[in-house]
Amino acid sequence: MDAPLYLRPRVEAPLALLLSDRVFLHSLVDALGSPLNVLLPEALGINVARFRGVYSRHHLAGRVYFAHKTNRSSALLRRLAAEDPAAVGVDVASVEELRHALGCGFTGDRIMATGPKDAAFLWLAARVGATVNLDSPGELERLSGLVRTHGLSRIAVLVRLSGFEHRSGREAAGTRLLSRRSRFGTPVRDTEALLSALERNAETVEFVGAAYHLDTTGVEEKARALEQCVLFLDECRARGLAPRSLDIGGGFGVGYVAEAGEWERWTSALTEAVLGLRPPLTWRGHGYGLRNEGGTVRGAAALYPAHRPTAGPGYLDELLSLPAPALGRPPATLLLEHLHDLHIEPGRSLVDQCGLSLARVLDVRSADADSGQYLVHLAMNAGDMSLEEHGVLVDPVLLPRTETAAGDGKPVGVYLAGNLCLEADLITRRLVFLPQLPRAGDLLAFVNTAGYAMDFHAHHAQRQPVARTVAVERRGETWNWSLDEDYWPITPLGEQSDEV
Ligand SMILES: *Cc1c(COP(=O)(O)O)cnc(C)c1O
Repeated sequence: MDAPLYLRPRVEAPLALLLSDRVFLHSLVDALGSPLNVLLPEALGINVARFRGVYSRHHLAGRVYFAHKTNRSSALLRRLAAEDPAAVGVDVASVEELRHALGCGFTGDRIMATGPKDAAFLWLAARVGATVNLDSPGELERLSGLVRTHGLSRIAVLVRLSGFEHRSGREAAGTRLLSRRSRFGTPVRDTEALLSALERNAETVEFVGAAYHLDTTGVEEKARALEQCVLFLDECRARGLAPRSLDIGGGFGVGYVAEAGEWERWTSALTEAVLGLRPPLTWRGHGYGLRNEGGTVRGAAALYPAHRPTAGPGYLDELLSLPAPALGRPPATLLLEHLHDLHIEPGRSLVDQCGLSLARVLDVRSADADSGQYLVHLAMNAGDMSLEEHGVLVDPVLLPRTETAAGDGKPVGVYLAGNLCLEADLITRRLVFLPQLPRAGDLLAFVNTAGYAMDFHAHHAQRQPVARTVAVERRGETWNWSLDEDYWPITPLGEQSDEV
């Protein structure tokens, strides 16, 4: 066999400590079944502190709004609700997420309502005094109508903008301007109707600022959008409106793979495999978006950049420090000079290192006797652990059932298959290298799944169980755990608080 092409995960404390406790993780799955999601609320506190550190460094005010859609957990939301109300809020994208946030302890003034909204969502948001991140002028009219009809208080609104211009990365600076199309928000060139609607409805809605969320990793493109929003807010002030905040959305990213070298080796090998220069790395030669056209690689790999030199709080810091392309000053300076609050809506990056998903190995069989590859069936399906669906490629960690199961300890290439009777139910379509062959009863731990991968796509197909979710916390030499819905951020897990 060729040298194993590992994509080993980046694992930091306290997740690293949890992962080292094989016996505890096995006992959880024995009790609660496979698949199982395990969350670390304390890791969320660490991430909040890191993001707030960036705010302090740049002397900026404003809130970190967690993008709730990332994870359905109550434990995570309750842990966030316990943070400083002036520093941490939550971004909800449905009436059910809004109800959940209220039930987890967020007051309305810490809640941002985003995405397209129906009447119930708008009414409840206005009723509890949330901030509404308006998707369109039509939504503004509907919200204003509801406030008027139901005698509600004036409601704070941000306007979401889109269609910003940015330079094409490949060409010389300034040669070509592109604009990214989005399903959401009002195009920045098209704001006249929006502004007059804000003026017309000033009695019912209080215009507090602008917002955007760009689905890109490009820091330059985000800086350009930020500048265009600052210019838009200047224009609003010139018309007599009084905006004071800018919400730059999420997308700060997560580094999943620990080593740059492993990521580079794997992606080069994929290209070689697509060209037929080496044996396939994937099930049935799947190319992750790449294809061979007469000896040339075409297409773009639909992969998340799984190794990131900077991500999360570091990425925010980089964005704020970037010399601004048009206005000549770094974004942080621009915001300070204009006295704008900076709001962010991190999802994936705020739950970095906050959880893992466990699956029991059901069966191991030879996939191809010639190549020494194996097929490993898991008590989990592709909906339960959807890193693959999001284009994130990273290896699971093998947790053998018994210490003596080490076998001959030789690295092996395996395909990971799910528990549905579907050819397509693969946990990942690439050949995954493990340090040794797993056995039935072992566990695979997929780390860093709290962002989108553990419950976003979970379903009940074939009446297979959906994963239970537990919250765990280190107490002295052991772990305490509780079901996600029973976690409250008040007493150590597993202890009764009401005994006097
Ligand atoms: C999904 C989403 C986010 C979070 O994005 P991440 O990439 O997970 O940080 C933030 N804001 C809005 C409006 C979103 O739709």
